[in-house]
Formats: sequence, C-alpha cells, structure tokens
Amino acid sequence: MELEQYRPIPMLVTQQTRIIQPRFPVIDAHNHLGEPFGGGWDRKPLSELLDRFDQAGIHLCVDLDGGWGEDILHAHLEHFKQPAPERFKLFGGVDWSKWPELGEAFPEWAAQRLRLQKERGAEGLKLWKGFGLQVRDALGELVPVDDPRLAPLWQTASELGLPVLIHVGDPPAFFEPLDEHNERWEELHAHPDWHFPSPPYPPFLSIVNGLANLVARHSRTIFIGAHVGCYAENLAWVGALLDRCPNFYVDISARLGELGRQPYTARRFFIQYADRILFGSDFGPDLEAYRLYYRFLETSDEYFNYNPGEVPLQGRWHVCGLYLPDEVLAKVYYRNAQRLFGGTLVHESQPGAGAG
Ligand SMILES: [Zn+2]
Repeated sequence: MELEQYRPIPMLVTQQTRIIQPRFPVIDAHNHLGEPFGGGWDRKPLSELLDRFDQAGIHLCVDLDGGWGEDILHAHLEHFKQPAPERFKLFGGVDWSKWPELGEAFPEWAAQRLRLQKERGAEGLKLWKGFGLQVRDALGELVPVDDPRLAPLWQTASELGLPVLIHVGDPPAFFEPLDEHNERWEELHAHPDWHFPSPPYPPFLSIVNGLANLVARHSRTIFIGAHVGCYAENLAWVGALLDRCPNFYVDISARLGELGRQPYTARRFFIQYADRILFGSDFGPDLEAYRLYYRFLETSDEYFNYNPGEVPLQGRWHVCGLYLPDEVLAKVYYRNAQRLFGGTLVHESQPGAGAG
C-alpha cells in the first residue's frame, strides 16, 4: 500500500459532538466569495448564499475579493452589498503590477487608489501573500514587508479608518526543503506552486519579522494578521507581537489544523488574547467546515479530523477542541469584529441551539 492510500480510522471511543449552530452570532472576518477561492458566488443567486449563511449562523461576512481596481469592487458591491448591506463588508486591494511603471510615484498612487476604493464602498484593505514574496519595485528588487516607502499607504488606511487584513508568508513548512522531513509534504506535492524555498524566496522569518516591524511602526493603523498572525505554528511569537502592538489583531482562518494540534497552548492563547482574535474561515461558505470550527471552539471533543473530507489536508494529524468559555466565544465570534468594523451589525441573541 502507498502512504497516499492510507486511511486509518481511530478506534477511540470518546465524546463526539455535532454542532449545528454556533452558540453566538458569527462574523466571518476572512472569506472569499469570488473566484478562485470562494467558489464564484458573484455568479450565483444571492438568496442561496444568504440561506447558507443563515444555516451556518453567519450574520456578517467580510468578502476579501474586492480586487485591486474599481471593476471587481463594483461588481461585488452590486451583487452582495447593495441587496443585503447588513450581511457584507468588502475589502479592496493594491495593484502592485503598477509599481514598475509608476516608479517612485507608486506609494502615493496606491494611497490615492485606496481613497477612491473607500469612496466606492470598500470597508478595508486586503494584502495578499505576494507582498513580501513576489512584489517588486521599479528596479526589479523584491519589496520587503516593512519597506518604508509604503508609509503613505498605511497612513492613509489609518486616516480613512480602514482596517488592513494582511497575509504574508505562508506555513513555515512551505519554505523548507520538500523532503521526507517536511510535515506538509503531501499538500506541497498536490500544490507545487505553494512551495517557496529560500533561495530564491526570502526566509520565512525575515517575512514575518517584516510584518512585526510594519505593525509596530504604524501604531495608528489597525492590522489584522491573517491565519493567526501569519504564524499559527508559533503562538508565543504571535502573542509577543500582540503584547507589543495594541493595533494588531489576528484572524483564525484556515488554521484549525494548527491550533487544534496544540490545544493547551491554543486554549491559553484564546483566553489571554480574547479581545484580539477574530473568527474567520477562508474556505468559502462551506456549512460543514463552519461546523467543524464551531466544534473546535466550543467542545472538548478529542482527536477529530479538522477537514470535512476523509484525509486532513494540511497534514495527517487530528485536533482537540478548546471548550472556550462563553465570554471568550462571544468576543471571538462577533464582538471583536463588531468593535473593529463599527456599526451595530449584529443583534445579540440568545445562544444558539448548541450541541445537537
Ligand atoms: Zn484568504
């Protein structure tokens, strides 16, 4: 038998909880509704999506697929936000491809574009992981995450009151050699374009340390570090940055597998930083995937697959639930996001049906 075919079924007899609805209303602070990540919901009827959100207990969804210009932003605003303004927030982006052409004028131009995006309806800025990995300036040099030339962009985000959701780097294993020691070997074989060996790519730590410098330098700009501050494998590192920088928040999207394999550390992290953690998914509006997140956050179930499919996709291990206290759950599920994104968007209702 090849390792690929191996599907061991745990013989454990332990508590198995099925969560249908989350205990509190949920704001999904990190998701995609367009292509290629979100499943192309901009081309499907909105009512289908809203039904899905109702089933999953999602009251508000941050759609990070606003693109870099006005066309996609406009299309998403028209399709999602205008018919259901209380259910969506849309984030814009930066068109890095213009740097070579605009040269020194690029940072101010990008700041102006952000103003324009806000006028059109963008409610935040999304930075994709190409920043720090691939983005190059007019001389063809790699732009580091803490490049001081970009100050106008971060200052403008702060002036406009727009939070910056930033993803830099990727799992540190993606920067390691693709050999028998790599814990994401199967995933990297399935997606060779996710492998960023250094060289030619910068080392993982130089990228996340750039993020730390950036967040510390622009203390008036709100930064949300995607995927548990871009370093879910090292919660001590993330905690140290949260301690240093009150303007830093994290979302927990796409990192159930990481958080759930260090449940003692993760539980302490959630309790200690309960005011700074936002719920996020990153898997499109997938009902079963949402329910696995709720199971992880709410129950003390042990050793379960963190993916709805048969094989855990980010490494062959299982996770344990965190059984977070209600006050922590409520903050992570919606209160922190509500505070950051403004407005009285969610009516605090009775806890949901809970365990089913
Ligand atoms: Zn994402």
